[in-house]
Parts: sequence; C-alpha cells; structure tokens
Amino acid sequence: MNMLSAIAKGMFTTFKHIFRKEVTVPYPEERLPVSPRFRGRHFLVVDDDGLERCVGCELCAVACPADAIYIEAAENTEQVRVSPGERYAKVYMIHMFRCIFCGYCEEACPEDAIFLGKEYEMECYTRDGFIYDKTKLNLNVRGAAKQRPEVLHRLQEDLSTYHK
Ligand code: SF4
Ligand code: SF4
Repeated sequence: MNMLSAIAKGMFTTFKHIFRKEVTVPYPEERLPVSPRFRGRHFLVVDDDGLERCVGCELCAVACPADAIYIEAAENTEQVRVSPGERYAKVYMIHMFRCIFCGYCEEACPEDAIFLGKEYEMECYTRDGFIYDKTKLNLNVRGAAKQRPEVLHRLQEDLSTYHK
C-alpha cells in the first residue's frame, strides 16, 4: 500500500508539471535574453573612419587581475596610421581561459576602446582558439550590425554606448 501511494504521489507530481510553463527554450534556435549587467566576450572598437580606438597604453593590461591581456605597442607613422594617437596596439591578445570577465579592462580604458559585449558563445576545439587577437577582437560595431542583423540585436546596448 505504501508503495502504491508513493507511486501515485510521484505520478501526481509529474502530472502537475505537464501544465506548468516551460522554463527552457529550444537553443540555439531561441535564446533567452541575458541580464543587462552580463559581461560576455571582448571587442576592440574600430571607428567608422577605419581607425582603431586603442592607443596601446596598456592600462587595461595593468588593471587586469588575471594577467589575461598581452599588448605590444608601436608608433603610428605618416605612412601607417592605425589609431588616432601616437601609438597603437601592434599586438593585442586576450587569453580567454584566464579571463574572469570582471570588466576592469573596460573600466580602465581611457579611450573607450575595449568593451565586453553580450556574446557568450565562445566554444572552440583547440586551446589556441581561446587566445583572441585583433583579428577576433576588432569590430566596427555599426558595420558588423549591417552585415549581420543578429549582431545588431545582441549589441544594441553597445551600439548606443560606443557610437553616439
Ligand atoms: S575582463 Fe577582467 S580578467 Fe578579463 S581581460 Fe578584462 S580585466 Fe582581465
Ligand atoms: S584597450 Fe584602452 S586601455 Fe587597453 S591599451 Fe588600448 S587604449 Fe589602452
């Protein structure tokens, strides 16, 4: 009798859930919105004139508590101008395994050159793939949004912040 009542209780509990609203979504076709305070992967801003905002000052690397950022700066010349300042980041790398997504690099940057966006899909099959260099980090937000509407969707907040 005890066993039967336990089964009935279990079935009743299961049955109750049939009528409850689902809390999961069919990812990746559908994605739940992330919190406004969510910090995802980084981007380095490239302005509409093609210049990188980063001036290679390394303040972000100094502020990083996880020692995740590596920068080699170089001088802009008349022939080669990469950023509006005197220098630019010739090499800029973030080790995503080290990063704890604290956002200190974003706070430390005097040029609003780096920001943590809303993207969280960073899966990769190799360890090297988690070292993000400028080819992965550089982003002209407005241009990217035109080419890929889903980027516009995900970076709306970043657009309003960085392209006033
Ligand atoms: S988010 Fe934090 S841990 Fe990650 S690179 Fe920036 S400062 Fe370093
Ligand atoms: S991202 Fe900002 S803080 Fe970091 S090196 Fe570039 S300009 Fe300096």
